[in-house]
Order: sequence, then C-alpha cells, then structure tokens
Amino acid sequence: MEKITDYFGCNVFNDTVMKEYLPEDTYKALKKTIEQGKTLDPSIAGIVAQAMKDWAVEKGATHFTHWFQPMTGITAEKHDSFITPTDDGNVLLEFSGKELIKGEADGSSFPTGGLRATFEARGYTAWDPTSYAFVKDGSLCIPTAFYSHGGHALDKKTPLVRSMQALNDSTLRLIRLFGNNEAKSVKPTVGAEQEYFLVDKKLYDKREDLRFCGRTLFGAPAPKGQELGDHYYGVIRPRVSAFMKELDKELWMLGIPSKTKHNEVAPSQHEMAPVFTTVNISTDHNQLTMEILKKVAEKHGLVCLLHEKPFGNLNGSGKHNNWSISTDTGINLLNPGKTPSENMQFLLILCAVIKAVDLHQDLLRLSVASAGNDHRLGGQEAPPAIVSMFLGDELTSILDSIESDTEYTQKAREKMDFGVKTLPAIRKATTDRNRTSPFAFTGNKFEFRMLGAPMSIAGVNTILNTIVCEAFDSFSERLEKAKDFDSEVHSIIRETYKAHKRIIFNGDGYSKQWQEEAEKRGLLNLTDTVSALPYYTDKKNIALFEKYNVYSEAELKSRESINIERYNKSLHIEGLTVIRMAKEQLLPVLSKVSADLCLNLSAKEGAGITAKYERSVTEKLSELCDSIYEDSLSLEKAIKDAETKEDILEKAKAYRDNIIPIMNSIRNSVDTAETLVDENEWPYPNYCDLLYSV
Ligand code: ADP
Ligand code: MG
Repeated sequence: MEKITDYFGCNVFNDTVMKEYLPEDTYKALKKTIEQGKTLDPSIAGIVAQAMKDWAVEKGATHFTHWFQPMTGITAEKHDSFITPTDDGNVLLEFSGKELIKGEADGSSFPTGGLRATFEARGYTAWDPTSYAFVKDGSLCIPTAFYSHGGHALDKKTPLVRSMQALNDSTLRLIRLFGNNEAKSVKPTVGAEQEYFLVDKKLYDKREDLRFCGRTLFGAPAPKGQELGDHYYGVIRPRVSAFMKELDKELWMLGIPSKTKHNEVAPSQHEMAPVFTTVNISTDHNQLTMEILKKVAEKHGLVCLLHEKPFGNLNGSGKHNNWSISTDTGINLLNPGKTPSENMQFLLILCAVIKAVDLHQDLLRLSVASAGNDHRLGGQEAPPAIVSMFLGDELTSILDSIESDTEYTQKAREKMDFGVKTLPAIRKATTDRNRTSPFAFTGNKFEFRMLGAPMSIAGVNTILNTIVCEAFDSFSERLEKAKDFDSEVHSIIRETYKAHKRIIFNGDGYSKQWQEEAEKRGLLNLTDTVSALPYYTDKKNIALFEKYNVYSEAELKSRESINIERYNKSLHIEGLTVIRMAKEQLLPVLSKVSADLCLNLSAKEGAGITAKYERSVTEKLSELCDSIYEDSLSLEKAIKDAETKEDILEKAKAYRDNIIPIMNSIRNSVDTAETLVDENEWPYPNYCDLLYSV
C-alpha cells in the first residue's frame, strides 16, 4: 500500500528538496529570504535555477513557467521548454538564474484597468521565493508576481505580499511593547474552506447556461431540495468518494494539506478544507485547489461548479477565510492564552480587529462583491451584505465589563477580581455555531464568511492585513508615549470598544430585525456589487493603502474599474444566454407543445369529451410563451441600451436596474412552463436530473 507520507509534496521544490539539491550556503541564503523576507542575493539565483531544473527534469518536466495571478482572479501560465539546441543537432537542458528571477509576459490581454497604455504593453513576472515552486502537468511552475513596466502591480499577489510586509512591521512594533523580543517575524495565517457542486458532465454539456455562465439561468425546483438536511455530512456516494480520493491525492502531491471533506447542505454540494498556512501560500494553494477540483472532476465524467449560485432555491457555494496572525516563534496572537498578561495583549489585539472592521466595513464588503455573490449575500444562506462581527458571549461580556469598569463574573467559575492586571483567564470558545455572522471569532482565529466560492482569497486578505496594521499602529503610538503602560492598555481597550462596539452582533444575522437594527447603528448595508465597488477609491481608502504601500491610487482605480467591467461582462453574457435559450430552445418547444395540446383539445371537444386539462394548460402555456417572447425583446433592447453607455458605472447600474429584473421575469415564466410540460419534451436536463444523478 502506498502511504501518504511517501508522496505528500513529491511535486514540490520544498525545504527537504532544497536541502538535498542545493549547496549548504545557497540553501541558507535562500532560507533567510524565505523566512525573514531578506532580499535575495542575485548571485545565488543561478545555482537555485540549476537545482530546480535538475529536480524538475527528474520529475518528467520538459518546460518551465512563471505562474502568476492576474486580476482575472484565475492563474496564468506561459510555458517555455528547457531546451537549447546545440551545433551538433542535439539539445541541452538549460534554466538560468535570470529566467528564474524575471520573466517578460506580453500580457496586453490581461486586464489592467488602465494601468498600462497599449504602447507600453510589457508586463514582467518576478519570482516569489516565499512560495515553493512545483511541477504540474510536465512544467516547473514558479510562483511569481506580475507588474507593469511602470512598476504597478498587475496581479493579486503583489499587493498581498506588500500587506504582509506591512503587517509584519506593525505587529512587531506592538508586541515589542509587551516585551516580546524573541519574535523575528510575524505572518498572517489562513485556512480557506472551499465549497463546490458536482454535476454529471453529459448533463452539463446539454445546458448552455451552465457552459457559458457557470450557473443555471432557469430551472423549476425539484420536489426535494435541501429541506430535510439529509445531505449535510451525509454518507459520501461511491462516485463522489472516488473523485474526492483522487482530489486529495493530487493535492497532497502538490503539498496542499487537504484535511477535511464532507457533503454540504444542498444536494450535490461538497466541501474541502486544508490545514492553514501562511497567507501567500494558502492563496497559491487555494488557486491550485480550484484548478485541480475542475481537472479531477472531468476525469470522473463530472463537472465541478464553483459559481456562487449554480441553482435557484438551493444554497450557493462560498469560501470561508479563517485568518489569524502568528509569530515565527509559533505564537498565535489571536489565542486568548491562559495567563492575564497574555490576555491583555490578546484583548488589545482583539480590539484592534474590532476597530479595523468597523472603520473599514466598506472594504471588506467590496472585497467579496461580484455579480454571482449578489445572489448569496442576504439570501438567508450566507451572511447578509452588512458586515458585522461575532465575538460570543464570554468575550463580549469581558469587554462590556472593561467598558463599564465593573467586575467581570465568569460563568460557572469562581468570581474574579477585575483589576487592570488581573484579567480573567479566557477560555477558548469552542462553541461558535453562529453561522449567520460574516466575521466570527472562532476560538483562536477569525472566520470571514462572505467570500464566494470562485474568488481568490488574495484581495480580502490584503485588506484585512492592512486595516489591522492601521489599528495596531494607532495603539502603538499611544503606548509608546504612555507613562503607565498597563493602564494605557486598559484605556485603549475601553475607548476602542466603546467607539466601535456597534460592529459586534451576536444574534441572528438572517433576521429582518438585524437589518433594522444595523441601520439604527449606522452600519453600511451595500446590497449589491454596484453600490459596493466605488468604495475602492474612497478618499480614506486611498490614504490607507498609500500609507502602507499596499496599493497606489492608480492601482486602486484599476481594480475598481476591472471589477465593474467584470460585473458588466458577466451580466452581458447572462443576458445573451437567456435570450438565446428563450428564443432558440424554449419558445419553439413551448409553441409546439401547446399546439399539440390544441389539436388534442379540438379532437376531444369535437367528440363531445371534456378537455379541461388541455384547455387550461394550452391557454396557460400560450400566455407564458407570449410573455417570454415579449420579455426577450425588451431584454434585447435593454442590453443594447446598456452597451451604448460609455461610463462603466452607469452601464453597471443599467444592468442592475434594467436587465436583471427582465431576466428574473423570464425565469419565472420559464420555470412555471417547465412544470406544465412533458419532461421528455424539455430542451435540456432539469433540476431533478442535475441534482440527483451523481
Ligand atoms: P469549521 O468549524 O468552520 O469547519 P475548523 O475548526 O474545521 O472550522 O477550521 C476551519 C479552518 O480554519 C481550517 O482550514 C483550519 O486549518 C483553519 N485554522 C485553524 N486555526 C487557524 C489559524 N490559527 N489561522 C488560520 N486558520 C486556522
Ligand atoms: Mg467554516
């Protein structure tokens, strides 16, 4: 039997391989770069490149590629082979330090949001030595950052790495004040739980909406949906189990520590979760995971759907971003700890996160804004569009008592004297089951739950790291000047909590009362993508990101416009697909079915037999046909109108306000018609087929 330990990470140029393939001094220099963010000595790049190539060729690789994450949200690769022809008609296999460190990608077709004029179409990729290289599909993949000739980040990775640097500096500054002189570096850690659907490939191929849009644009509900809750954690069926086994193996070979797998709430829905790691690595891993989910599914005659809302009336798929901060000495700074002094630092850090999230609700909201995610947020299946935080009862009452300067009474434990230094021992809460909160403290980390399944986690973590930096620095500034350190910590906790506790909500985020209450508290409720995205270039946000060198104003503008255009393009494709399916597939069938019924109707009535069914259904179908037809014409016109708008935000508003409502109206008519027609006549597989065939 093959053991996991025999092949885990076998396709990764990881620490063990480096030790084996690199001379000792090269290994040490590279290690320093990786662990302490030291600039890499270019002279060692050649040696590393040589070793990487030798190792990759042994793994069967013929090519290398700079692997990067452009702003499309997926990964990009351009492959070059290792071969250099020789005079005698043979080839040498070569890979130089220069090729490792820097690549040129004429990426003029990648979205730049105006960052690169066409006359200056060159883009460059630069090796990120902090994320291991790996072999995939016969190519040595080198994780890289992607930037323009003018130095603007054209990818998701560069700003993320910049935010990690900023967080490192701000966190070290703060924990030094608490006497931590051992830690040399601090890194955000993330574990990303990934939800997905599996459908049969043969059925998928018959639906243009799935093929073009990744989600069903029509579909009457199956008689059985998720109401019994019998799929969640249910026994995994053999076909899915075979898929999951192969998925795990592929992920493990790439060093991705896939840990948990289970069935999710909706039929055909599943989840995988890895063990957490440093955020730039978990970002790479999550991108690879999404790619491999799709690849392995195809091998099993399946298609993996990563859309936020593939099916109406059923839960969509999200991604949970579990986030914390750890020192290189292994301390998780969001661990409440056992002793009061640790608690003081913990409570202060907790308050920094509270402050950061309250001040920058807009940023967290926009980091998850997309046409697809608009179907989920606020839909009673995912957190609402309002950003709030869950702390649980214990932490909330500790902060309450600090605010009111009253004694904190620990439930079911002895009373504790609440002085400045004698904070209570905080238990690690293990009971968070408030699934309705967008940003929940879950014992020793925060879980941000608003992401849609297909999203890169880079953006949200870039934001999280940066907003927390700002809060840390505001505290450090005060503490550095403080005469009495302990009482200043206490004051900061009290004042911060008082000023920002409106963001804390431990109740049911799905309820209507919360919408009203949140409004009273003055929290933002950005219900759709079009309202959220313009916050990218809010003055306070430009100032924040420029202060920490994470995004320049131009980089923010480019992200805003790329995301708006993405919204417009996805709705454009959806609109055209609705029209095509309605006019070329559905209407001809509906017309034929109602004509056939009409024939039966006149035959029966001619013979003096009642024909209630035929009369009522043919009338209803004809009505539906007419409204589908009329709506399709209006949709065509609305799309044309929207497309004439020059301003992309105005265009987005037109899609949101004029096009989505017509698409919904067509869907209603089509779904009603579906319930009246012989299922063998229906032009494509229905929800019963799609959801219950795997
Ligand atoms: P859930 O109840 O949501 O399923 P789990 O306890 O299973 O939560 O953990 C979910 C994810 O959180 C996993 O990917 C796990 O590795 C990650 N996680 C645990 N501790 C940390 C941490 N300190 N930092 C970041 N992620 C973490
Ligand atoms: Mg979770």
